[in-house]
Amino acid sequence: QTVSRPGTGAHEAPLPLDVEAIRADFPILTRTVRDGKRLVYLDSGATSQKPRSVLDAERDFYERINAAPHRGAHQLAEEATGAYESARARIGAFIGAPAEEVVFTRNSTEAINLVAYSLSNAITAKDPAHRRYAVGQGDEIVVTEMEHHANLVPWQQLCERTGATLRWLGLTDGGRLDLSDLATVVNERTKLVAVTQQSNILGTINPLDGIIARAREVGALVLVDGAQSVPHQPVDVATLGADFLVFSGHKMLGPTGIGVLWGRYDVLDAMPPFLTGGSMIEVVRMEGSTFMPPPQRFEAGVPMTAQAIGLGAAVDYLQALGMDRVQAHEEALTGYALEQLQAIPGVTVIGPPDTVARGGAVSFTVEGIHPHDVGQVLDDLGIAVRVGHHCAWPVVRRYGVPATTRATFYVHTGYDDVDALVEGVRAAQRFFG
Ligand code: PLP
Repeated sequence: QTVSRPGTGAHEAPLPLDVEAIRADFPILTRTVRDGKRLVYLDSGATSQKPRSVLDAERDFYERINAAPHRGAHQLAEEATGAYESARARIGAFIGAPAEEVVFTRNSTEAINLVAYSLSNAITAKDPAHRRYAVGQGDEIVVTEMEHHANLVPWQQLCERTGATLRWLGLTDGGRLDLSDLATVVNERTKLVAVTQQSNILGTINPLDGIIARAREVGALVLVDGAQSVPHQPVDVATLGADFLVFSGHKMLGPTGIGVLWGRYDVLDAMPPFLTGGSMIEVVRMEGSTFMPPPQRFEAGVPMTAQAIGLGAAVDYLQALGMDRVQAHEEALTGYALEQLQAIPGVTVIGPPDTVARGGAVSFTVEGIHPHDVGQVLDDLGIAVRVGHHCAWPVVRRYGVPATTRATFYVHTGYDDVDALVEGVRAAQRFFG
């Protein structure tokens, strides 16, 4: 889409992605809402819509293949195993990782809990090799004030279980990490640093290099929350330099119920299991059991097979678009949205005001109107946004607001969607003004 209106310049360039062609791939975008209005879906940050190829991949699995992978001696089980493992390999390749470093989980939340529980279980692991990264009394875990609850509460809980201490890096007034005390917050007692690559509420893209370098100096592990970065920008674990990366399938065009824990193989190999039972064991006797190597050690029970296959199709779809272009597309939309929203008197963007080191989550407040009321007016116009604290309560508290309205963009978002949002905010001002 290329549009040009007087007084603005940011959106004169055509968008990197062919929005009309992409929209045709998403069946849900053909439906209307609120009495025949076009669905303007600006809530991909909460969960993304699914292209037909993902829906087809899941349906095809159930219609033609359905069986439990890694079990059974029949053809269907063999084909299910092949499809499941092919998805793992393609999802790994998408982030530059070998298949054996890709652990399937339900979502990012479960992936983070897996690491947190494994590291606290490690204290009492029977196998001494599994105690290498154990977290206990006197150790410290470092997070940031920017984290989604999924990358905060599991670490608070780990500290309660183990007697470890939680420390955190704060935020600047401009919506960025305050790294002025990095050298003291991350110190010789630090066992793990857990940090988001891209904030779900502020849109900020964090400078991970310095944080990871400091963690390396003190021998701490690093977990990167990629729930909002992997869907929107190229991420390569080899250049990232972290030990863990987590992300959710449903935020990247894939199904719900499937997420990924990527871990460096040697680190995964030194960790005890989180959930135990079938599929993850080597030998079971009444007296005790031994466990498979990663990734199977961390995948107890019959896995989310159709969902993994659906995520494989999502990754194929994103790869065909090209993650560089996906990122450039969202940057253009974000620049346009920031320009248009900040030109409205009374609108304040919570987070970086421009597109420098920033992704496409645009949170804002409208003076004198509660975000829930803004959301209601937008919904009446067919515009889906998220309102509230966005599972990052400390962030809204830090910026002194009760909640925000948040618009998030993806591959099917066009300038017309941003125009609808901006018009909707003006309509809310007229209604409540
Ligand atoms: N981390 C971030 C930055 C997120 O935005 C989210 C979800 O919004 C999560 C973690 C948790 O993802 P899930 O609910 O898929 O586990």
